[in-house]
Amino acid sequence: MIQMRVVKTIKEVRDQVSAWKNEGLSIGFVPTMGYLHEGHQSLIRKSAEQNDRTVVSVFVNPIQFGPNEDLEAYPRDLERDKAAVEEAGGDLIFHPEPSEMYPGHFTSFIDTTETTELLCGAVRPIHFRGVCTVVGKLFNIVLPDRAYFGQKDAQQLATIRRFVRDLNFPVEVIACPIVRESDGLAKSSRNTYLSPVERQAATILSKSLMKGKEAIENGERDAKKVIDIITASLQSEPLARIDYVEVVDFENIQRVERIAGETLVAIAVYIGKTRLIDNFVIKL
Ligand code: AMP
Repeated sequence: MIQMRVVKTIKEVRDQVSAWKNEGLSIGFVPTMGYLHEGHQSLIRKSAEQNDRTVVSVFVNPIQFGPNEDLEAYPRDLERDKAAVEEAGGDLIFHPEPSEMYPGHFTSFIDTTETTELLCGAVRPIHFRGVCTVVGKLFNIVLPDRAYFGQKDAQQLATIRRFVRDLNFPVEVIACPIVRESDGLAKSSRNTYLSPVERQAATILSKSLMKGKEAIENGERDAKKVIDIITASLQSEPLARIDYVEVVDFENIQRVERIAGETLVAIAVYIGKTRLIDNFVIKL
């Protein structure tokens, strides 16, 4: 066990990683926005299992938030994050200031098509450009052998896989399953925004997805019927307001009429003012 460290500059990360690489050690990387929970920790644990050293970035990336989104309100607590990273087996936290990542006159972006047209890409126009740009920058800073992403953000995962392939980033992308609360709610840093009543109402997301999944498991192949089942279930909760319910192929994130192959069923729902996402992937 080595002592876990927190660094704030790109140079410190590069120096540490290159020292590790000179010793022949492999590097795993887990990008996060902090306020870590067991979902993030499952990624860190997986990385610690598969690599000699694990780097975790904690950075609330301003360029992936739209003008009316929750950049300022996004929860932050580095002391708590340090304990969570240490407990899960991480070795280095990269916690840069926005000025370290975007030092003025920043004009280059990783822009993606196809996988970002629908779902969150349709309702959060600049979101994925911001995500892909920061992840690409972090890959170039950390130079990891493997990087870990949660299926919780399934469209993000499909998009990162795609740009890594398209742009030849020398990193292996590893997908990790969704970690949930005991009542089914997908763990999210944004769950802290929910009042007790909203927190209870938020269980409607996973419950509704379960109904859709059961229908598919019982033989339903018509995407529209699955969407209708999930929509009706979500509408039974008065505090829920649907942003989208979509059935797409998991690789290209394009709508399908018939469910076949690897299919992503994804929803985004407002509970009060809080926007939550959830999904499942089914392989037929
Ligand atoms: P975030 O801090 O929300 O940007 O998430 C950082 C990484 O953790 C992303 O790859 C997410 O998909 C992943 N993640 C977030 N919540 C969960 C969860 N409940 N289960 C699995 N992975 C998650």
